[in-house]
Amino acid sequence: MTPDFIREALRHVRYPGFSRDIVSFGLVKDITCEPGLTTVQIEVQTNDPQVADQIFRDCHTVLDPLPDIGHAKVVIEVKPAPATATGGGSGSQIGKTSIAGVKRIIAIASGKGGVGKSTVAANLAIALTATGARVGLCDCDLYGPSVAQMFGTTERPLANEKDEIIPLEAYGIQLMSMAFLLDGASPVIVRGPLATRYIQQFLHQVAWTDLDYLILDLPPGTGDIQLTIVQTVSVDGAIIVTTPQEVALIDARKAAAMFGKVNVPILGLIENMSWFECDAGRRYHLFGDGGGVREAAALGVPLFGQIPIDVATREHGDSGSPIALLPASANNVAAAFHQTAAALRSAMAV
Ligand code: ADP
Repeated sequence: MTPDFIREALRHVRYPGFSRDIVSFGLVKDITCEPGLTTVQIEVQTNDPQVADQIFRDCHTVLDPLPDIGHAKVVIEVKPAPATATGGGSGSQIGKTSIAGVKRIIAIASGKGGVGKSTVAANLAIALTATGARVGLCDCDLYGPSVAQMFGTTERPLANEKDEIIPLEAYGIQLMSMAFLLDGASPVIVRGPLATRYIQQFLHQVAWTDLDYLILDLPPGTGDIQLTIVQTVSVDGAIIVTTPQEVALIDARKAAAMFGKVNVPILGLIENMSWFECDAGRRYHLFGDGGGVREAAALGVPLFGQIPIDVATREHGDSGSPIALLPASANNVAAAFHQTAAALRSAMAV
């Protein structure tokens, strides 16, 4: 039995609530293999005792059945996480800081892809700007960035004298996306540690300037990027986007649980594609009725808004001028986004 073999085996142990494993996340500090005894030293920074308990149990589940391992001893050193910028404890933070020039960091998340998370993030950013707030939008989806398309921006960002990337600006919003760094349709072949580095750079080496809100458009699901973000910066809270459909709600619950594990508060839910209203004014609940209301109540968080599905919203997104640029009086989806932004602002008191 060798430490390398044990290390590989421990790649099956995930950080509770996330898809990332404890080895790739650097929590395994030491492994020693002596005849009849294998010792694994783990260090985790968390204020949630359940995190360490779960890792301990999962390590034993993986290690105990291995042949020739002898007795498996898992030693976990738990270090308290520092308090976040908003004063709350954090479940798991390694070198976590605030971002210079940013008052509030809000993550927009969804359990599932295709529920309209990016559409909501872009329109919410615009609607928040319309309330007088200064807003930045960071597209953290390295593999399917969509902010460039939705804001009609194709330029390459420049660097300032401090070697920071100067965010692009459209409709008064500071923007950063992987798409700004890529040539046309080239795929992003970055994985694991490299993806982590890009994200950390987006957060710390972009010259975000004087922002009330930095909106992070997360990739769907509960993977590496999400974990990296919550452990790199003090996220003030997350907003979960879901459709009213049960399959989307199931995944929305998983996303909420993930944030719970790392003590990032869920600020609220936004239900997208809530209904379609025909020209005669009749509403069709294409993806079911009331799912967002029920889920928000179950999570004990506000439902910030219900966004109808409509053709103009898709067209405006595709053509680089999100629907929320219109006044509330012009379109019912624009109105829903303006209401949602107002609800969020009063909840955030910034
Ligand atoms: P996600 O970020 O969750 O993958 P997107 O924001 O990319 O989802 O949206 C998926 C598709 O649905 C896009 O084509 C988008 O234009 C469309 N879409 C999202 N929300 C709405 C809406 N309320 N009405 C009409 N189309 C929408």
